[in-house]
Amino acid sequence: MAAAGVNITTTLGRLEEEMSAKCCVCTDEFPGIDDLEAHISADHYNCLPFECEKCKFAKFPTEFAIKRHYEEDHGLMEYFVSDLNLKRTILNDFYNF
Ligand SMILES: [Zn+2]
Ligand SMILES: [Zn+2]
Repeated sequence: MAAAGVNITTTLGRLEEEMSAKCCVCTDEFPGIDDLEAHISADHYNCLPFECEKCKFAKFPTEFAIKRHYEEDHGLMEYFVSDLNLKRTILNDFYNF
């Protein structure tokens, strides 16, 4: 019985960790790792490599952010991002700190 209780606690603890993410630069907290990535790229590195194909002025820090923009602002479930692999490489370089 005691072992089952421990397992439940461990699972909940891990879930909580995944659900909130803290920025290691300014210690702001975000509901998810995707939001944290977008925050670090945009606010700390001024890195917005993803441009919306529909409204050229709109730029986004991560694939997640532009995907959400396409879905919520344009009602599109499919979207096009050019040079995606190159942009992923740029972003990965940023996260190697
Ligand atoms: Zn921050
Ligand atoms: Zn747009």
